[in-house]
Formats: sequence, C-alpha cells, structure tokens
Amino acid sequence: MSDTQSDVTIETDRVYVPAMIGSEKFVEEAKERVVEQLRARRDSGKHDTIVAVVQSTSDTLYTGTTFESSQPQFGFCAERHALHNLFHTNPELDSFERLFVAGAVPDPNEPVTRPCGACRHALYETNPEATVYCSHFIRESEGWNAFSTIEQYTVAELYPSAYQPAT
Ligand SMILES: [Zn+2]
Repeated sequence: MSDTQSDVTIETDRVYVPAMIGSEKFVEEAKERVVEQLRARRDSGKHDTIVAVVQSTSDTLYTGTTFESSQPQFGFCAERHALHNLFHTNPELDSFERLFVAGAVPDPNEPVTRPCGACRHALYETNPEATVYCSHFIRESEGWNAFSTIEQYTVAELYPSAYQPAT
C-alpha cells in the first residue's frame, strides 16, 4: 500500500510506529546520536552526510559516517562503518540487532535513505533477521528538520534472494 504525494511515493506500510515495534528506546537513542554527529560536523565547518547507528547484541550503540574521498571508489558507507566499528571494538561479537540510517535531503518529501547494495549484502551476512530503520533530515539555519519519516525493514526484506557464495 502506498500514498502518492505529487510525484513522490511514500511506502506507508513501512512507516515506523514506535508503539508497534517495541524498539522505541533504540530509535530515540539513535536519533540523538545522529544529531550529535551532525552538530559536531557543523561545528567543524563540515557538510552533512549520512550517519548510521548500529546496536550490538549486548545493546551498545556504535556510530558511523560516510567516508568521502576525491576518488569515490575509495570511499565507504556509514552503515558499514558503524557495523565495523562494532566488530572492531568487540572482536568476540559477530552479529548486530538493529541499524538506524539517515541522510541529508533537500525536501521532506524525498525518499528516506536506505542502504546501498553493498551494505545490504554486508548486513545480510551479519544478521538477516536484524531490523533496519531508514530516515532522513534537512539542514536548517539553526538545526535540522529531522526524522519526519522513518521506515523499517528486516535486512532480509531489503536483500531478498541474497547472493550466496559457493561452498
Ligand atoms: Zn552502502
């Protein structure tokens, strides 16, 4: 089911409703982490970028941002940065529970930021059952108009018929 507003389609069956999910605490904390990172970047004179927050199986949060290079093939995504931050800090862990990702958009009717194909594969290999929350924000002169829409998916929903290497 979807509603169409002008030429933008919003996936209404994916819209995050806290009371239905039971993961309100993670989403609220993740939103705070994203704004914290955005504020630090703004204070340093940097532009907004995609920010991801991942929750480990022991309920600790790890943040990642997009790494940008003058040669785009050398960069990497916020989602994989956050995930690897978790595994770098906790070598004994090999899974995660939830991921929240949000990117800058010019207009609230723009689609939310969803993981790219490479990140979907990495997330799938780590935990296909994990939940992914996708959102966006708009930079304003005094802050951000943030998280007006949040969509939720399982990793497997984002990456159906996943690539399986031959064994
Ligand atoms: Zn990606």
